[in-house]
Amino acid sequence: MNIQKIKGNTFCIDTQMADIPFYKIENKRIILLDTGVRNQREELENLFKKNHFKVAGILCSHPHVDHIGNVAYFKEKYHCQVAMPAGEAWACRSFSNFKIYNNIHAPLSIVKKHYGHLIFDIDKLILEQQNIINICGIPFSIIHTPGHSPDHISMITPDNVLYIGDALISSEVMKGAKMPYAFNLKEDLESKRKLYNLSCSNYIIAHKGIYEDISKLIDKNIEFYQYRAKRIEDFIGEKVDWEKIFERVVERFHIHITSIFKHDVIERMLKSYLDYLVEMEKIEIILEDGKIKYKKRI
Ligand SMILES: [Zn+2]
Repeated sequence: MNIQKIKGNTFCIDTQMADIPFYKIENKRIILLDTGVRNQREELENLFKKNHFKVAGILCSHPHVDHIGNVAYFKEKYHCQVAMPAGEAWACRSFSNFKIYNNIHAPLSIVKKHYGHLIFDIDKLILEQQNIINICGIPFSIIHTPGHSPDHISMITPDNVLYIGDALISSEVMKGAKMPYAFNLKEDLESKRKLYNLSCSNYIIAHKGIYEDISKLIDKNIEFYQYRAKRIEDFIGEKVDWEKIFERVVERFHIHITSIFKHDVIERMLKSYLDYLVEMEKIEIILEDGKIKYKKRI
């Protein structure tokens, strides 16, 4: 893990899975923008220790497991403030909420065992109409980029550096992505387009990269998500059962389902693409013989 200076007091930690930006306040206190996954915890802690950093605040873009994996732990350890979009903060408030948010096919006892580290109290809620959040006395501008998740936000540090979170993915990530996730793909594409209008000094993408200009990357992202939707559309002909589409996608995209949790993630991803195709009037959703089916629109 390395620290890269981006501009002024804005820095970025380069981890294998993600870029985690932070803003340095006086006396080595830092505000983290997201926290990575649980298995990066030890490395992050060592990095903070080596640099005499104390986490004073955490600003979360959205409550996906690879972004909030260490919030509860750092909050307990450093007594830091946590801010998150109000529209999704509820997901981290209890195990029941987390189960509902992620539509998990397992009882609460298993959810608790597997995701026990992801439940925490939130100090500041970021409202839908709010454009600035003050955390530890530092103002961050909020760009609302819903779609990847229901209330996803991107944020601009006082150095005019935009942390995009998961509203865009890099070209490298696109190469390996079979079905990149968007809770609401139509809205996600609109949020991606919204990013064309910004003029920040630098742009940090969670997965993963630091850019000075993102206009070509936005084009590529939009094309890529639409192309994946088209591939899924091509698996649907005359009335196909939901289960059959799931099977086809898993087989043809060479997806390895290794656990119930992975199954649930793939199911959520696929349903988002199907919703998008229904929204775009490419396919229809119907109920026949008590079963959910999709069919191509003529
Ligand atoms: Zn995400």
